[in-house]
Amino acid sequence: MAEVILENVGKSFGAHSVLSGMNLTVKDGEFVVLVGPSGCGKSTTLQLIAGLEMATEGVIRIGGKDVTDLPPKARNIAMVFQSYALFPHMTVRDNIAFGPRLRHEGKDKIDSEIRNVADMLQIEQYLDRKPKALSGGQRQRVALARALVRRPGVFLMDEPLSNLDAKLRIEARSFLAKMHKDLGITTIYVTHDQSEAMTMGSRIVVMSNGRIEQSAPPLQIYNHPVNRFVADFIGSPAMNFFPVKVADGHLACERIAFDISLPDQLRGIDEGELALGVRPEHIHILPKGVADRENSATFRVDVVQHLGHETLLDLRAGEHHGICRAGAEEQVVPGETRQFEFDIEHAHLFDMTSGMRLTAQLSEPVDVHSTPKLG
Ligand code: ADP
Ligand code: MG
Repeated sequence: MAEVILENVGKSFGAHSVLSGMNLTVKDGEFVVLVGPSGCGKSTTLQLIAGLEMATEGVIRIGGKDVTDLPPKARNIAMVFQSYALFPHMTVRDNIAFGPRLRHEGKDKIDSEIRNVADMLQIEQYLDRKPKALSGGQRQRVALARALVRRPGVFLMDEPLSNLDAKLRIEARSFLAKMHKDLGITTIYVTHDQSEAMTMGSRIVVMSNGRIEQSAPPLQIYNHPVNRFVADFIGSPAMNFFPVKVADGHLACERIAFDISLPDQLRGIDEGELALGVRPEHIHILPKGVADRENSATFRVDVVQHLGHETLLDLRAGEHHGICRAGAEEQVVPGETRQFEFDIEHAHLFDMTSGMRLTAQLSEPVDVHSTPKLG
């Protein structure tokens, strides 16, 4: 059992608080991704779990044992860094054997362990090379091999794919996912890249400013973000936000000629200002000449980006800006003014000040008495 539990963990450097009130349980065999903008405390969290930094508050348990005050080697973990941290003067074989030799394992045992991991990571043919004679992707696999021969209870990975080019990164994602499936080692993976988080984790933990904003499976995070920060951070291009006024059972946005009937479940909500969040795939360009339709708005198309499998349209109306994800064959040209329909069933409403979501989606029932007070 190598479950990892953080109980109310905090970390300060002097008077500077970097993490606070972190509560997280990573189940045995789970693959959890910590994601968030640079500086939000992801690496610090991993280093606290590894024992490379000491928590200033709270308790860390690994495999049922309180490891809060234990050194890294007593924690049954292995860590892989973005920099790989390979010894440049040693061959791949010696790099991998370094740990087992330090632990005085027998030569035959070390040789057979190296054969196993080299076979699994497809690096047999490079064992006698030095790291500088390897590509970035190969070096990254050597770093993984070195971590794997420890047979750790927990794998900690800090942006291990950041130094790879885009194509290799996508290959390496599948590779790591397969390795996790085969070995089932509890893995905590850190990235600032939301698409890596969406594709790799069985659970995503979104962080900002040293706190956990939301912890849930990828699609739940995408479809039901708890607040505006998560809604904005996950998804590319990001969710569009428009300020709307609630009055007389309608949502209206100045300068964008739209007027949306408030869904039944939101009737009775206080009048005031809200942010309407709509993902680019939930704004649809209407055929030319289509007259006003319900839940539609007029925008000028500023930029048209043909990506091959889809077309992204930059929309503008006064100071409001948005992005629409249109079909690959969309023929609109920059400068055209068109009507766009909002798929309001999939839109979200956020409180302007707290950023909290009022409803997961407008189609979901909501208890208006539990929503934040607007004003
Ligand atoms: P992330 O990995 O999410 O980019 P980090 O965990 O590296 O973020 O850093 C979080 C915050 O902690 C940053 O503001 C960083 O400057 C600060 N920090 C990290 N390590 C130290 C340190 N040794 N001393 C002081 N501040 C630190
Ligand atoms: Mg970091």
